[in-house]
Amino acid sequence: MSGETIFSKIIRGDIPTEFVYEDEQCVCIADINPQAPVHLLVIPRKPIPRLVDATPEDRELLGHLMIKAGDIARAAGCGDAFRLIVNNGEQAGQTVFHLHLHILGNKAYTEAGL
Ligand code: C5P
Repeated sequence: MSGETIFSKIIRGDIPTEFVYEDEQCVCIADINPQAPVHLLVIPRKPIPRLVDATPEDRELLGHLMIKAGDIARAAGCGDAFRLIVNNGEQAGQTVFHLHLHILGNKAYTEAGL
């Protein structure tokens, strides 16, 4: 679970990928397999494998990701209608073990489920 992931390679530039947004703490890319008209991933540069692997020292970073996700969603035209999802663990559907926030937007959210 720990170790190199595709997101580390993307962040380092080994796999050329357009960054929708980047700063010193995180990058944002478009999901390669979008599940909504807007499907972006906010990824910390620090390779925390899962949300539960974050520690109190990551408090500021996690807050930063949330604030930026809101800014990015609005900039992407989602208005106030978007979802933020973190899959934690394989049984919850996590496939890349480098923490990331999914931004899903511009979809008709009429049900409570995903
Ligand atoms: O939460 P989970 O780990 O399942 O999400 C990983 C996401 O990363 C998937 O939505 C997948 O489409 C995306 N991905 C990507 N580019 C890659 C590999 C995976 O956007 N090269």
